Amino acid sequence: DPAPIDRATTTTCGYCGVGCSLRVHVRDEQVAAITPVHGAPVNRGHACVKGRFAYAFTRSRDRLTTPLIREAGRDSPLRPATWEEALDAVADRLTAVRDRYGGEAIAMISSARATNEENYLAQKFARTVLHTNNIDNCSRLCHSPSAAGLTASFGMAGGTNPFDDLDRADCILVAGANPTEAHPVIGARIKQRVLDGARLVVIDPRRIDLVGFADVHVQARPGSNVAVFNGIARALLDNGHVDQTFVRERTSGFDELTELLRDYPLDRAAHLAGVDPTPLAEAARLYGSARTPAIVYGLGITEHTHGTDGVRTLTNLAILKGAVGTLDGCGVLTLRGQNNVQGASDMGALPDLLPGYQPITAPRIRTRFSRAWGVEVPERPGLRILDMFAAATTGRLHALYVIGEDIAQTDPDTRRVQAALAACDLVVCHDLFLSRTAEHADVVLPAASFLEKDGTFVNFERRVQRVHPALPSPGEAKTDFEILHLLAQRMDADLGCPTPADAMAECASLTPTFAGISHDRLDQEGPLHWPCRGPDQPGESRLYLDRFATPDGRAALAARPYLPPGEQPDQRFPFLLVTGRRLPHYNSGSMSRRTPDLDLSPREVLDLHPDDAARLGLADGDLVEVTSRRDRVTFPVSLTDTVARGQVFTTFAFPDRPTNALTSDCADTTTGCPEYKVTAVALRPS
Ligand code: SF4
Repeated sequence: DPAPIDRATTTTCGYCGVGCSLRVHVRDEQVAAITPVHGAPVNRGHACVKGRFAYAFTRSRDRLTTPLIREAGRDSPLRPATWEEALDAVADRLTAVRDRYGGEAIAMISSARATNEENYLAQKFARTVLHTNNIDNCSRLCHSPSAAGLTASFGMAGGTNPFDDLDRADCILVAGANPTEAHPVIGARIKQRVLDGARLVVIDPRRIDLVGFADVHVQARPGSNVAVFNGIARALLDNGHVDQTFVRERTSGFDELTELLRDYPLDRAAHLAGVDPTPLAEAARLYGSARTPAIVYGLGITEHTHGTDGVRTLTNLAILKGAVGTLDGCGVLTLRGQNNVQGASDMGALPDLLPGYQPITAPRIRTRFSRAWGVEVPERPGLRILDMFAAATTGRLHALYVIGEDIAQTDPDTRRVQAALAACDLVVCHDLFLSRTAEHADVVLPAASFLEKDGTFVNFERRVQRVHPALPSPGEAKTDFEILHLLAQRMDADLGCPTPADAMAECASLTPTFAGISHDRLDQEGPLHWPCRGPDQPGESRLYLDRFATPDGRAALAARPYLPPGEQPDQRFPFLLVTGRRLPHYNSGSMSRRTPDLDLSPREVLDLHPDDAARLGLADGDLVEVTSRRDRVTFPVSLTDTVARGQVFTTFAFPDRPTNALTSDCADTTTGCPEYKVTAVALRPS
């Protein structure tokens, strides 16, 4: 656009966990254009279609610009209210619930869409004002198995290496991730590396775009990851590709793993995964014979009943190969879905962990936070998200406070979520739009978007980056940071840290892994990786070069057997539904669907193999009724052989196709992460 702009602001993309640096050009208080920052360490002048063009939502007519409250009960309509009315209503009703039933009758869901400072404040609000550890965030629904698995294997809850290390990888193993669509800047980086000579192994139930660049594709059945990784581990042993010195000097658990792997010869592992042994053997050979291999994985590994076991058995490969904690390998990189899902957990918006993953059950740590905050931090770990729904429907939870998450659209088993919302005496949410969750709320507070905020995000390689406001919020919308402060004041509490910079400073003073991070330093030096242990210390981009952060300093190999997923297909429900993301849209789609420039994919479809379609008498575009053990939803079909026979794929970005009505509440046995990747369904022409 040739007309001059009024100003330009550098900030961090609020869509995926890559965390691209963007320049936001503003004219007449509207975004005129967004361009990638040339020379930025993360994206090196690149950005994807969402980061560049998905900004029309900021001035959408649907944006909430005033608080909304109900006059009398859930059946009455939401009406515009003043901030005073809305905050008084929330404060009075939260206080009443807390005083009558105790803080544990209230739960908060904080947000990967919020800044670190907002997440820090949210968990402080829950613990010091509501007096509960019932706080969780959406990492529960995506990467909680990564936090648990990586901590158990290596000692810390983040990926091990910077993604610049992909540039020196001679073999990249991509498992359960589709970076071309979900993390496009990384997808492009992987392709470039392959064109420069790296080998590529793809392990995924779908023939994703990267398969076109891959040396081998292991098209494993959804839910079979542990069998696949145990089979590859066994092949590493059989092929002499285990770094025996590294294993002897820097690991634990080798004997137990070797014993377990007796049960996973390649043929058996391939059988369990529903694949031919040849590609599995080739995947093991390529990874095992590489000099500097990297593992990149995503939600296809974590969102399973045995998601943490999937992470542990995948990290086994890097440990056996000696490809983590050394310069001989590029470690394990986790592709985080939402922009700040790493940061929301780093900041302690978790029911059992304080900022920096410090356990709430450790008296010494609890005492440190209690002293600093001037309030006794509750000892008992709180509820995880899915447990909050169960507690609401059984009458133990009376109030639910949701920041920036559309749980009624994106959480599994929608009927169960709706029943939980209906059972609560009070539902409050902060949102940009009247989401499906907001439709169930008693009070809806209009929130600022990432383009209107000051603070920081953490990307998927643990890089803490500044977020600067490019625009004022529309109407009376406020940041989550402002709302939490105002609400605390109305509840006769003072959260301290009046500015986001103060919140980061307080977090740093209480959290060793963030001790060296401050807004001033980020503004002067640029992004910093955590851990950053002091103002004079650098951020550590590559972890564990000296020792692992486990109690014994060794990387822990995990002997985990393959166990079947929570749901199995049967005669009634013979297909497997896999959910995921498509390039133009993002999670609930509330932002990306409101951007006309992204009208590349204006409706949701169900991907179906042509052979299955022929069997069912379906042509491209026909409607099909999809039924699971919980509900039924109708989709137009899109015929494609990117899905395997007997499997179907879709997203949950469109509220008119409520995919999560179908998904189950089966969840990771360690962390409670739902099994979005495996749902048994039946198909019937509609
Ligand atoms: Fe934003 Fe991710 Fe796209 Fe980068 S790759 S512009 S962070 S959505």
